Amino acid sequence: MVLHDIMKYIESEYDIINSTPCEVCGDSYIAEDLEIHIVNDIPYDVCICTCAKCGHEKLFKFCAPFTDEELLQEAKKSMQ
Ligand SMILES: [Zn+2]
Repeated sequence: MVLHDIMKYIESEYDIINSTPCEVCGDSYIAEDLEIHIVNDIPYDVCICTCAKCGHEKLFKFCAPFTDEELLQEAKKSMQ
């Protein structure tokens, strides 16, 4: 996967996060951090999110089509 594909992938994740209301107050989540976790040899893209209003934390887990931590960091940087 190239950087451009990863950015596209992360963008669509952010879309899902943004359209998910907070389970406590109904406000929207803000993505704080993005990490790759390997569970049973399957890479998962874990996004740590915090509610903008009440501060409730939620983890979003996506099956990651990539395992390259460096590329992920690069993609995150260029999206800010
Ligand atoms: Zn909330």
